[in-house]
Amino acid sequence: MTPTWVRLAELAAAVLFILALKGLSSPKSARRGNLLGAAGAAVATAVAFFYGQDFFGGPVKHLPLIIGAIAIGSIIGWVAAKRVQMTQMPQMVALFNGVGGGAAAVVSVIEYLSAGSDESTASLAATVFTVVVGSVSFSGSILTFMKLQELMTSRPVVIPAGRYITSLAAIATLGSAVMLVVNPSDALLYALLGLSLLMGVLLVLPVGGADVPIVISLLNAFTGLSVAASGYVLGNVLLIVAGTLVGASGTLLTRMMAQAMGRPLTNTLFGAFTAKATVASGTSEDRPVKSASPEDVAIMLGYARKVIIVPGYGLAVAQAQNTIRELVELLSAKGIHVDYAIHPVAGRMPGHMNVLLAEANVPYEQLKEMDEINPEFAETDVALVVGANDVVNPAARNDPSAPIYGMPILNVDQAAQVVFLKRSMRPGFAGIENEVLFDPKTSLLFGDAKESLTKVVAAVKGL
Ligand code: NDP
Repeated sequence: MTPTWVRLAELAAAVLFILALKGLSSPKSARRGNLLGAAGAAVATAVAFFYGQDFFGGPVKHLPLIIGAIAIGSIIGWVAAKRVQMTQMPQMVALFNGVGGGAAAVVSVIEYLSAGSDESTASLAATVFTVVVGSVSFSGSILTFMKLQELMTSRPVVIPAGRYITSLAAIATLGSAVMLVVNPSDALLYALLGLSLLMGVLLVLPVGGADVPIVISLLNAFTGLSVAASGYVLGNVLLIVAGTLVGASGTLLTRMMAQAMGRPLTNTLFGAFTAKATVASGTSEDRPVKSASPEDVAIMLGYARKVIIVPGYGLAVAQAQNTIRELVELLSAKGIHVDYAIHPVAGRMPGHMNVLLAEANVPYEQLKEMDEINPEFAETDVALVVGANDVVNPAARNDPSAPIYGMPILNVDQAAQVVFLKRSMRPGFAGIENEVLFDPKTSLLFGDAKESLTKVVAAVKGL
């Protein structure tokens, strides 16, 4: 019989996890949500630690090793989280997620080897499921980390006959998994482990560019499912609760991201089976563009009635959130109406812009979601695009061959004047040309967004 204090602590941790998710649903309460989640995890770990027999069928063994591992893991996690830049967050999530999936797979391998044929069929099935899904999540996440960290190309990698190899590997994985449940065998378990790791690589290789963060979210959901299954194997209620929460929220997030980018999830999911080599359209055109000085931009802004700011990934890279707030305050003080237009996938992760601007104390009322602000561009004097590109690219509307085709965009091309702050003519994440840059009503202020904005702020003050 499990003592009441253990059950109560488990209940408290589960409630903390749910409250954490609730808190994370709004930028205002996100910090609190995060802390609640961390507290839940701490309670769960403490219970597992102090009441070892409930979890591993005996008193805790190898105590020094466990304490050493916890210490090393905590130090690595702490240092990594302290050092990571906002723009590197997706790869950090990928890495941590992969480690979670890998851990669930390793636990299940050990469980299988130690219990083997003594387990019930349901328990064996859950163990094998965890090995497969956890390993796919591990190798897939490590590969997405490498893509985002630019340790390898972030473009889709299509290997010759890739779809046939992937289909064969999928059949072999499924076949071995079924055989392992029916007829337990250690050698086959290792083969399944290898096949599942290979599947993770094969599924992620053909995914590229803007789809990579969606895959991270999907693999995150996979890790959740494998953790829930390992909870079933170990008889640990908390792992089941936490895994299910991660699985469900990861699935919802994946769907929302796919929707915000206007593409069916199946395109990302089954990319490996359908992928054809695609080359990003030309980016080396030598057409003339109109460049502007900070003073020109200050005059355009200073004499406007209505301005919309479109923040993007470049704003985050330049860490220009405080400078943009300062500019907006100056313009507002002159009686100019200014709003921020927030595209759901501006930046590199969902909510990236909201978090960044909240950090700079931009009032929430000034942040307008895409559907709300889009009708307003037509009556806007200046759309100021700060380090954004794909989310304002009309190719998403009218070029069916573009990788972002179908993604809803912010209609900056409908504003009377458009100003882009960027460093060069290089394209955005999707790697395609943006026609708005060549529009006669568009001006470009080249340079790092923070430096450019600092100069524009000084020039507006001098008006
Ligand atoms: P983009 O990647 O399209 O464009 C960013 C722009 O910022 C580039 O044109 C770059 O031009 C410029 N830039 C980079 N650094 C600086 C700097 N220091 N100063 C000034 N400008 C800079 O970003 P968007 O936000 O428009 O679009 C996001 C992309 O990410 C989309 O393709 C989206 O689908 C994808 N994505 C986002 C997800 C999310 O959840 N947010 C999830 C999945 C995908 P230059 O190099 O010339 O300076």
